[in-house]
Amino acid sequence: MKQTTKHRLTLDRSKVVELVVVGAALAGLIGLALLSPRGIPLPVLYGYVAASAAVGLGLYATLRGFDQALRRRLVLVPLAASLFGAAAFRDPAGALFQIEGLFFDLFAGVLLAAVVHYLIAKLLGPLLFGRVWCGWACWTAALLDQLPFKRSPGRLAPRWGRLRYAHLALSLGLVAALWFGLSYRPGAFGPPALAWFLAGNALYDLVGVGLAFALRDNRAFCKYACPVAAILKLGAPFALLKVRGAAERCCARQVCEKVCPMDIRISEYVRRGERVGASECILCQACIAVCPEDALALSFGRDHGGPDLLRQR
Ligand code: SF4
Ligand code: SF4
Repeated sequence: MKQTTKHRLTLDRSKVVELVVVGAALAGLIGLALLSPRGIPLPVLYGYVAASAAVGLGLYATLRGFDQALRRRLVLVPLAASLFGAAAFRDPAGALFQIEGLFFDLFAGVLLAAVVHYLIAKLLGPLLFGRVWCGWACWTAALLDQLPFKRSPGRLAPRWGRLRYAHLALSLGLVAALWFGLSYRPGAFGPPALAWFLAGNALYDLVGVGLAFALRDNRAFCKYACPVAAILKLGAPFALLKVRGAAERCCARQVCEKVCPMDIRISEYVRRGERVGASECILCQACIAVCPEDALALSFGRDHGGPDLLRQR
């Protein structure tokens, strides 16, 4: 009985901490939006992002008694909010970080924020750290991970994953039609870049929340509809950083797979003596945290992934 009360108190305290962190992250965003018309010096923006990451990682490292998934959200929320704020309010007239911004910049042949961001965070980054962006920094995921469907019921049939490529093609088609068909240039006339950014994100959030409730799975948008994942998945199988399992310690009870938000058949990789090379792994480390045998760990190495081994519904 005493144990139950203590457990409830721990849970309640962790919820309070999470609420405070979410509140502080939102307050930071509102502060940036208010400052934005007067111009925000770049060092202030970078300092804000670095401080948000430091606070999140500090909480992650110190609050060991809290659930790992919650501690990860304490990193994800402030970091994602600060990155969102920096992307949105750095230069409302010219910043476009969404995938449409990338296409606009590519058509214009310029190396601006969107191209640099996609090159570093979405193409080269995954070659080193896999889809760490999706686990720890994505602002869409920061919202989706707050929803109630934290245990995934498993994947729909693989064909549903093709939706993300259709979404990517649709975005490219829209920008191409505007650019070449209507000679539209962001900011020159019509909606400014910031409007594109905010509208695009609102749409992602709307679809993401709708899918999560329809499929009872917080990360349904990431699994089936996110166009950015189509790019991230190119480099992720070759990542240097992956989860590795010690086959001799594995109890084969698949405790890890029950908490994996991306439905990866972790124990199958362990049984084969391979690192978890699935392009769907978001390096959230939930599997490592729950393994009762301490059989899983992060590791650096060179391999080329392989087929995604996923748990279906
Ligand atoms: S799949 Fe898309 S929405 Fe999900 S975390 Fe990755 S980038 Fe964000
Ligand atoms: S395999 Fe582990 S680190 Fe990768 S997504 Fe699943 S739980 Fe997270």
